[in-house]
Amino acid sequence: RKLGIALVGLGSYSKNQLAPALQQTKHCRLAGIVTGTPAKAEEWMQKYNIPKANVYEYKTFDRIADNKDIDVIYVVLPNSMHAEFVIRAAQAGKHVICEKPMAITEKDCQSMIDACKKANKQLAIGYRLHYEPFTKEVMRLGQEKVFGQVKFIESSDAFRIGDPTQWRMKKSMAGGGPLMDVGIYAVQGARYVTGEEPVSVTAQFSPKTEPQKFKDVEETLFWQFRFPSGAVSNSTTSYTAGVERLYASCEKGWFELSPAFGYGPLKGRTSKGPIEQPVVNHQAMHMDGVCKDLLDGKTLPGHITGEEGKRDVRLLQAIYRAAETGKTISL
Ligand code: NAD
Repeated sequence: RKLGIALVGLGSYSKNQLAPALQQTKHCRLAGIVTGTPAKAEEWMQKYNIPKANVYEYKTFDRIADNKDIDVIYVVLPNSMHAEFVIRAAQAGKHVICEKPMAITEKDCQSMIDACKKANKQLAIGYRLHYEPFTKEVMRLGQEKVFGQVKFIESSDAFRIGDPTQWRMKKSMAGGGPLMDVGIYAVQGARYVTGEEPVSVTAQFSPKTEPQKFKDVEETLFWQFRFPSGAVSNSTTSYTAGVERLYASCEKGWFELSPAFGYGPLKGRTSKGPIEQPVVNHQAMHMDGVCKDLLDGKTLPGHITGEEGKRDVRLLQAIYRAAETGKTISL
């Protein structure tokens, strides 16, 4: 049996990545949609053969509780809306997948975890890279110390943003700027290469080169983590120009992914030569991985759950605090 997934929010990620990926999945299928735009509902019903009974508006979404076709609700809305919809999904008695960043405050993350626990439903975050072969390989190289102890890491994710009026540029909806959006990948990268949790952070905002455009959120931000083993990481995130790289320098060599965080194909090499791994559809792997575990009645692996999402949101908040105060923040 395939689990039925309902996508909440039919924006760019749902339209261009998740819905196409759901045409390739083995353990789940696109069964329903939740949207505020009637024209999109029509278009999706036709394109993906979705029955009218499985189409909801944000207001009436709670009726999804009675719909046996829907097993999993996937929240793909602006960051500030994740908490409300995850909690409503859990209350409707469905498993939930929520996009990154999990929420814009740690408190919201906790409420989401609590709601899922209370409903006895599982909560996964859209951490697609945890199922991606190049990423799994650099986790192994770092965590198993294949090139010896990791000494320092450069982990950066940034791009030049288009439309300045979009929700990503509004702190109230996004929770911040590029750090919340793509910097979270750089945080994850440093954490999964070391397999450790940072003990302290320092951070710096760059001066704004386009102050009008970046009225509400940071333009470019740098931060540094220190890990218990002594490993350190240095990261950049930005909405003004691009970088996408995860590099680890170790006692006896180095390895890197570049590109490291996008939809792929990712590319990697080490001091001994290229990293060879199969190229996969990240979103299909992630949704299949989650749904296979749900079908088998297993507890989801810790590194993709709400607890992990909350850990990252806590770190993102600490990075902002470090940049605002200029102080080293202990974690
Ligand atoms: P988007 O702007 O393209 O889509 C957002 C959707 O939310 C739209 O359909 C919009 O109509 C709807 N919406 C409902 N209420 C809204 C409101 N008040 N204001 C604005 N939009 C509203 O965004 P997206 O790129 O699809 O991102 C959605 C989520 O997915 C974000 O949390 C983002 O971080 C995440 N995302 C994750 C990845 C990944 O690789 N895991 C990639 C892209 C986006």
